[in-house]
Amino acid sequence: MTANKSEPIIILGSGTWGLSTALHLVNEGHSNITVFDRASEIPSRYSAGYDINKIVRPEYEDPFYTDLALKAIQGWKTPLFGPYFHKTGYVVATSGRAPQKAIKHLNEALASIKDHPVFKSHITPLNKPQDFKDLFWQFRGPVTGFSGYLNRFAGYAHSANAMKGVHHHLAGRGVKFVLGPENGRVTKLVYDTSKARRCVGVRTADGQEHKATLIVSCLGAYQAELIPDVGKFSVAKSWSVAHVQLTESECDLLRGIPVINVRDLGFFFEPDPATRLLKLCPLGAGYINTDKKTGISLPPLNNLPPPQDYIPAEDEAKLRQLLRETLPWLANRPFVDQKICWFADTADSEFCVDFVPDTDRSLIVLSGDSGHGFKMMPIVGSWVLDLLKDGHQKMKRWQWKKPEGENMAAWGDAVSWRIGTTREIGDVVQERDRMIRARL
Ligand SMILES: Cc1cc2nc3c(=O)[nH]c(=O)nc-3n(C[C@H](O)[C@H](O)[C@H](O)COP(=O)(O)OP(=O)(O)OC[C@H]3O[C@@H](n4cnc5c(N)ncnc54)[C@H](O)[C@@H]3O)c2cc1C
Repeated sequence: MTANKSEPIIILGSGTWGLSTALHLVNEGHSNITVFDRASEIPSRYSAGYDINKIVRPEYEDPFYTDLALKAIQGWKTPLFGPYFHKTGYVVATSGRAPQKAIKHLNEALASIKDHPVFKSHITPLNKPQDFKDLFWQFRGPVTGFSGYLNRFAGYAHSANAMKGVHHHLAGRGVKFVLGPENGRVTKLVYDTSKARRCVGVRTADGQEHKATLIVSCLGAYQAELIPDVGKFSVAKSWSVAHVQLTESECDLLRGIPVINVRDLGFFFEPDPATRLLKLCPLGAGYINTDKKTGISLPPLNNLPPPQDYIPAEDEAKLRQLLRETLPWLANRPFVDQKICWFADTADSEFCVDFVPDTDRSLIVLSGDSGHGFKMMPIVGSWVLDLLKDGHQKMKRWQWKKPEGENMAAWGDAVSWRIGTTREIGDVVQERDRMIRARL
């Protein structure tokens, strides 16, 4: 791309990373930016960030990501992002029944921060169940065998509101947004093959073509719909989310609790005061949706009823156990707004921020958030600026990758913070249907 900052730039996807990219480009002086999204409003319900909250934590076994998370947390404390960041603290724990892998992960996460100059004064070990009860009097359950630590440097961000706020800010600064299933849904990338294979624009579902000098594709789990080769190293994967509806006084009671992440069960957050919802996520290796013909996993937009208002029985069991151990009076309450949410996973949990090969540096792909990319929202766009400045991705870990092989189902299972085995969502949905029929 030339130094002319009025040349048209198109960003695909107004999710977490697309909005951040637009923010950093506009801060750099680019004045002709258009963002396309298939959703009619922001936050998009197709975005992995379409949620009331996401963990913002600095602990990683790899100091590279710890440093990035630290920078991101600085970003969360600025006026633009600050209203959405809640530094409630973050508890990492294992229950008495945790497998060795979960215990090992906890110890490694703690080792990565306990002597870190920035974090060490914020860490409190929680060696036994009574330590949890002493600190968080609201946990009236037995917390059987719980041990872990509290990190006061971390917390969560209100993800839907952060996306809404950044969208509002960008629209006010002249970034154009083209939204909706017709105008905003990109169906095709347009290439000029007369010289090199250069991406020169996009086609939307309404048949319009839009030209640009640079296209940055931030399509999350949907990336392989438009750039199929991405699907060979970054797989659409999903996790369950469920909520408990609280009364006003229950919401007040739980105000200020830290995010609690029990590695072998799941995690929950301080309730959202606006909706009085307590959000819970089970921890597991997740579900994929592989097309047998292409071998590529994409979210089930057309070929399966999207499994909304439902989570797999194995996930529900983990969440009920988590509640029994911590907030037992909620353990049997019906879950509301249950859903399966999609993100882009890589085998080693590394991001991809690179030019698509052989496109004459006209097309950038941001992919492989691997389920830990929301916290990076304040800084993601700076990685795109670095790439443009350097002309190539200097860091091997974020380069475009060669295909990883056939066995997508096993991708990511080795990652230390995932417990369990990845399954096909189609099999899980069929299992549910069989159980329903058996009950009739
Ligand atoms: C259940 C769950 C829990 C998570 N928890 C955490 C957490 O606690 N902390 C954390 O840091 N991260 C967490 N993550 C990960 C985080 O949400 C993602 O890393 C992040 O949202 C990725 O951003 P993205 O911009 O790449 O993708 P997305 O935010 O998913 O954005 C993709 C966008 O592309 C749009 N789009 C798709 N197809 C098209 C098309 N054809 N044309 C136009 N637009 C299109 C979509 O509408 C969407 O807006 C979690 C993810 C999930 C699923």
